[in-house]
Amino acid sequence: MQKIKVDKDYIEKRVRDILVEGVGISENDPSFKNTPKRVAKMFSDFFTGLDDDRPELENIIKRHFPVEYDGVVIRRGIKVFSLCPHHLLPSIFEVSLAFIPNKRTTGFSNITKLIENLGRKPVLQETFTQQIVDWMNKWLEPKGVICIVNGYHMCSEIYKVREGEATTQASSGLYVNNHDMVMQFLKLIKEEN
Ligand SMILES: [Zn+2]
Repeated sequence: MQKIKVDKDYIEKRVRDILVEGVGISENDPSFKNTPKRVAKMFSDFFTGLDDDRPELENIIKRHFPVEYDGVVIRRGIKVFSLCPHHLLPSIFEVSLAFIPNKRTTGFSNITKLIENLGRKPVLQETFTQQIVDWMNKWLEPKGVICIVNGYHMCSEIYKVREGEATTQASSGLYVNNHDMVMQFLKLIKEEN
């Protein structure tokens, strides 16, 4: 478990050093005038999400209520703006998930909030996908949960290392090794709204 502290003043100074000393940009160049401050804010916005026990997540998972429902609950096309931890370039994740409640559920918007919160940090797509399933289990203890993430990675697009799009999938409970249920999930997330 890591404890994250973001020192904005320190980051601002070092970004200024990188631009001026490391790259040779003039300190008076108007295009870069507020860049160190903006980058420090961006670091603060995104890196605090790496804190494993931040209160935002605990607050979200407090919200749940009992339900008598044995069907599938599906959320699809949740868009999350994230950062690649290797290059610190943007990634866009499109998340769809399904779960089968075990007498407990929550409001749909809370699921979106959890997913947005988990993605708002520099994170590998594989880790992000698995964390969604793990947090859903911790939160609602469903009979089964499955999550699929399509990621668009600017680092891959820019450097042409590989195609910029990648898909990852994680599951637990009833979805594990159940081909029919996985196929039903894939079919449902493809249907038009
Ligand atoms: Zn990258």
